[in-house]
Amino acid sequence: MQRSTGEYKIKPIKKKVRDLLGYPYPTRIPKDVFVEQWVGISTDEFHRAKDADVRYMRNRHPLIDLNWSRDNCIRYLTSLGLADTPKSSCLGCPFHGNAQWRHIRDTSPDEWQDVMEFDAAIRKGNARANASGNRLLGQAFLHRSRVPLSEAPIDHVTAAEWAARQQQLGGHAPVVEELENGVVDGCSPWACRGAEPVQDDFGLAS
Ligand code: SF4
Repeated sequence: MQRSTGEYKIKPIKKKVRDLLGYPYPTRIPKDVFVEQWVGISTDEFHRAKDADVRYMRNRHPLIDLNWSRDNCIRYLTSLGLADTPKSSCLGCPFHGNAQWRHIRDTSPDEWQDVMEFDAAIRKGNARANASGNRLLGQAFLHRSRVPLSEAPIDHVTAAEWAARQQQLGGHAPVVEELENGVVDGCSPWACRGAEPVQDDFGLAS
């Protein structure tokens, strides 16, 4: 699938940062003007700690500075009575498990509508990529069942999904947990899992 990390994530962040700094595109930003962005990558995922690719944004990774793993974070949140804190993620992440989709559907109708529209809009790939000749072969879906999100079986894991994922993972990984709660690995817009090769039952048919 044509990946669109830059188009959907990095670009809007850069635009917002430029606006906040008072230098909207294409105004030149002086050398000494920059924002510091704190990105919550823990030590388990240190390889995902990446620098921004422009001078006016500097990425900091405070959890790595603290030498905190995911377990450290969970312990800390639990000590504050915040054990239920969900992972932060992009709204339309194709790595969501069913629980995350249900949470959006059941708690935020506007966001659910938004994400259903986004899912429909990506069916033929990214419009800009298509226009430049990189057409998507096949269709893209956000949900691994490869049906429109509005019809996807997010209230239960289907036998077909379970069997496909278990086969890919050799039966060793916690398949049901992942299908229900999504991928555990951390990420950030600078280290999006979608920029890596993925197995095509993530709803990213190519
Ligand atoms: S993998 Fe992470 S950065 Fe990429 S779309 Fe999902 S939540 Fe966003």
